[in-house]
Amino acid sequence: MQLTRTEIHLGGRWVRPDGTGTIPVENPATEETIAEIPACTATDVDRAVAAARAAFDGWADTGPADRAAALDRLHDALASRADALAETIGRELGSPRKFAARVQVGLPLRVLRGYADLARQPAPAETIGNSLVLREPVGVVGAITPWNYPLHQVVAKLAAALAAGCTVVLKPSELTPLVAYQFFDAIDEAGLPPGVVNLVTGTGPVVGAALAGHPDVDMVSFTGSTAVGRQIAHLAADRIARVALELGGKSANIVLDDADLTTAVKAGIGNCLVNSGQTCTAWTRMLVHRTRYAQALELAADIAAGYRLGDPFDPDTRLGPLVSATQRDRVRAHIAHGLADGGRLVTGGPDAPVPDRGHFVAPTVIADVDPDSALAQEEVFGPVLAVIPFDDTDQAVAIANNSRYGLAGAVFAGDEERALAVARRIRTGSVDVNGGSFNPLAPFGGYKQSGIGRELGVYGLAEFTQLKSIQR
Ligand code: NAD
Repeated sequence: MQLTRTEIHLGGRWVRPDGTGTIPVENPATEETIAEIPACTATDVDRAVAAARAAFDGWADTGPADRAAALDRLHDALASRADALAETIGRELGSPRKFAARVQVGLPLRVLRGYADLARQPAPAETIGNSLVLREPVGVVGAITPWNYPLHQVVAKLAAALAAGCTVVLKPSELTPLVAYQFFDAIDEAGLPPGVVNLVTGTGPVVGAALAGHPDVDMVSFTGSTAVGRQIAHLAADRIARVALELGGKSANIVLDDADLTTAVKAGIGNCLVNSGQTCTAWTRMLVHRTRYAQALELAADIAAGYRLGDPFDPDTRLGPLVSATQRDRVRAHIAHGLADGGRLVTGGPDAPVPDRGHFVAPTVIADVDPDSALAQEEVFGPVLAVIPFDDTDQAVAIANNSRYGLAGAVFAGDEERALAVARRIRTGSVDVNGGSFNPLAPFGGYKQSGIGRELGVYGLAEFTQLKSIQR
């Protein structure tokens, strides 16, 4: 498969960028360069924003049936490429094959179908007293996405923005741009009007910052680190542009004394390790009632050690590499720090065997982690679980809420009412009770420094609209 790309997608066409530089794309499992993509410049961002602006009025006026039909065609064009998309994500991110197909590609297909349905049946105008209240599209959206769920992040933003009537310029992560290119091949096939979606590629500080700071971008929708989210909010503040920020997390999984321990620990480890721990909602802190603590650690060691690490294309592999050498080194430093701060290694760690080539880190469980220490406070973004004991429910809630983040969390208890009562006390945008499964129609987003705004479903669509009242 030819993976190198030399063009960007502007105004409905593939064109040569102004920037002549290129960025290599690495396969993190083999450390080989598998492709190159253009390093765009601020001039390319200007061209892309102009194309999105020119397309805006027409797309905003397109009726629900036509908008929905365009999203349906995009869904079908992506679905017909599902295998190729999963293979690309396996190569540029290192996602194991089954996970790539089921989650990395399967989830965005469901999200896209959901937004086609929402586009077909837009919320009716509301009457409040003598006012008619309308929802109108915000305008031109700059979408900046990370590498960890490279197709899902693109679809979650673009499908919602398009359903709302906005036009978009996308800047995908430079670490995983190839699946974004395939997404634009599908856009071509679906025949969306020119300029409704546009692709620029390049680094964050050059292309991402030019897009976030562009005077003609009405809204910036960003998913990534809290540090970059803060910079983007500053850039947008200068012109009072709207931002939607989906940022980091440090989620707690509270295992109460009456929980089914095997279920709780198995689900907890699975959630923490999925995508090699590179998931913003990962339950990276497991809080266990002291009466069940020793048993939970034994189970955790066994379960984590059973995750087979290796070639993403080997069907027996459950954990692939981390996305880059930088990320692997950061994760290793977090582990070393956690052990130096008094954490006790239960399994994995710095000396556990990993494949010679590729950016692998062994699944690692560290017990007795101080809730105030760096390992319990910083987002690790790797396959590392911090386990912390607690003595009563109030203490568990206090530890869970002792975080600058507020993205997700979990509670396991024998009594569901008890679990729900604890879930209500956790200061995060979502909580799963007794292993409740991910719902792509539910609002997704963070409290505190985990972000501003919500993605997915009707609430995700509402982010891309603004309210107008007309008085009669
Ligand atoms: P990152 O913040 O480094 O990069 C994200 C995107 O922003 C990339 O496209 C990058 O090129 C761009 N960028 C970098 N610097 C920029 C700048 N100065 N101006 C504008 N754009 C810039 O994050 P990452 O390493 O790609 O992703 C990992 C982070 O994303 C983690 O912190 C994770 O928690 C977070 N994340 C959050 C969610 C969520 O929904 N809350 C989902 C996935 C990932």
